[in-house]
Amino acid sequence: MTKVAIVTGAGQGIGLAIAKRLYKDGFKVAILDYNTQAAQDAAAGLSETDAVAVTVDVSKRDDVFTAFDKVVEKFGDLTVVVNNAGLGPTTPVETITEEQFKQVYGVNVGGVIWGIQAAQKHFKALGHGGKIINASSQAGVVGNPELTLYSGTKFAVRGITQVTARDLAKDGITVNAFAPGIVKTPMMYDIAHRVGKNAGKDDEWGMQQFAKDITLQRLSEPEDVANVVAFLAGPDSDYVTGQTLLVDGGMQFH
Ligand code: NAD
Repeated sequence: MTKVAIVTGAGQGIGLAIAKRLYKDGFKVAILDYNTQAAQDAAAGLSETDAVAVTVDVSKRDDVFTAFDKVVEKFGDLTVVVNNAGLGPTTPVETITEEQFKQVYGVNVGGVIWGIQAAQKHFKALGHGGKIINASSQAGVVGNPELTLYSGTKFAVRGITQVTARDLAKDGITVNAFAPGIVKTPMMYDIAHRVGKNAGKDDEWGMQQFAKDITLQRLSEPEDVANVVAFLAGPDSDYVTGQTLLVDGGMQFH
């Protein structure tokens, strides 16, 4: 069986590190992102033949189905789907608008549900099982300050992961999640900037608010997360489903 992986939000950050790692592990890789240029650069940086960029807004169900169809048409198979795309705005509870709620839940929760649906459709049509891997967060395990929307969506991802692990097991599909801690990506620098600004402090102070409880005493590299996703994408995790693996340097113990 050809190994083919779709990684959403793989134009930068954690998704890009996952795409690179899965390519190294022998997967043909589809980089799905709504930032077309970033997706194309990422795919070009991997391979001319075994990587492809597809523009998609994961909050739009039809977009997601069309993007998955393109990937299966190009590579002829699909074995792993990583629903990684996500938004992480800082939202002190009193500031949350209906529009923000719809946007963040649309991407972080909707994007995961549409990705699971499209994966199930293709695995079934291809006549084999597969692995679905969703992005939660340590903020989806314990509530984090000023992240009502974000933490809420990441708790939801753990719930969806557990339910769909039960629902899809009969089709030979495992569903797991990864929960990163504080990863050095554009998203995290942006959150740290806004938390610092809200407190009248600088970015470094903002980052330290998240970093101070890390047992391993260092921030996470995107590759730390990609290593665990590689495990969830490979045969060593065949007997693991419904789980959320914390990859946070020991911020939360569960
Ligand atoms: P990032 O913002 O650096 O990258 C996210 C990528 O997703 C970008 O390329 C962006 O264009 C894409 N994207 C955003 N919305 C999209 C949409 N609607 N459709 C398609 N693509 C979209 O983020 P990151 O830090 O690499 O985070 C990746 C995932 O890991 C997210 O789900 C995030 O919540 C989760 N996470 C990150 C951290 C961290 O510390 N950075 C911690 C815990 C969890």
